[in-house]
Amino acid sequence: MRGAAPRTEQKEAGTIVEGEIRARVEQVRARIAEAAQRAGRRPGGVELVAVSKAVSISRIREALDAGVAVLGENRVQEAREKVPVLNSPAVTWHLVGHLQTNKGKLAVELFDLIHSVDSLKLAHVLDRHGANLGKRVRVLIQVELGGETTKSGIREGHVIPLLHACRDLSHLAVEGLMIMPPFREHPEEVRPFFRQLRELRDRANDVCAEHHLVHLSMGMSHDFEVAIEEGATLVRIGTAIFGERPQD
Ligand SMILES: *Cc1c(COP(=O)(O)O)cnc(C)c1O
Repeated sequence: MRGAAPRTEQKEAGTIVEGEIRARVEQVRARIAEAAQRAGRRPGGVELVAVSKAVSISRIREALDAGVAVLGENRVQEAREKVPVLNSPAVTWHLVGHLQTNKGKLAVELFDLIHSVDSLKLAHVLDRHGANLGKRVRVLIQVELGGETTKSGIREGHVIPLLHACRDLSHLAVEGLMIMPPFREHPEEVRPFFRQLRELRDRANDVCAEHHLVHLSMGMSHDFEVAIEEGATLVRIGTAIFGERPQD
């Protein structure tokens, strides 16, 4: 497998010219800094997760050369092909897509942060693999706040009970919450979702002192500035860096 080109290489549209990715990364960074400043936050408090699903190795390398340090993938299998090829201590990998329990072991091996825990069963599976591998598994809880088109995420009312139930999972570190709100024409329309997630995180920290939820994973290409104004600590950005994905 080592050295083999991932399948994604072939299905990529050739819309971005050489050197353009660097400019796009710099633009996104500037916009992150401006949004943080508007909200009275430190730009360093917002981490850029470059979502590289369906993006070729050569384009990902361009983003890494431009200083990207965190890559987000939404499929375990795709990451499994890419991680060995791009193997570098300077890069960390985040899983941003839905995770099936039968891929849990591989996910624990490949990823530094899993954004998409959405059941107690999955939490248990990840904790067990973490124990076997001698690794503390860092995760976020994906929350569904109503109206989302995605099928993953747990309902708001189930978040605090899930956090309580995770108390005894010694190899699981729950570090925050993630949301994927519905697409809306105007980013302002999703602000209430981001705000609700922040309030939920703060409430959870009050009542579940055993966890320290620092992260809010929210905001994508279309709406990351609004998310930062509402407290995002991780923004997941694909299109604004790599261009349109062919399958979208
Ligand atoms: C694809 C994806 C993103 C990035 O979306 P863009 O609109 O391309 O920035 C972010 N989060 C998740 C979970 C995704 O699947």
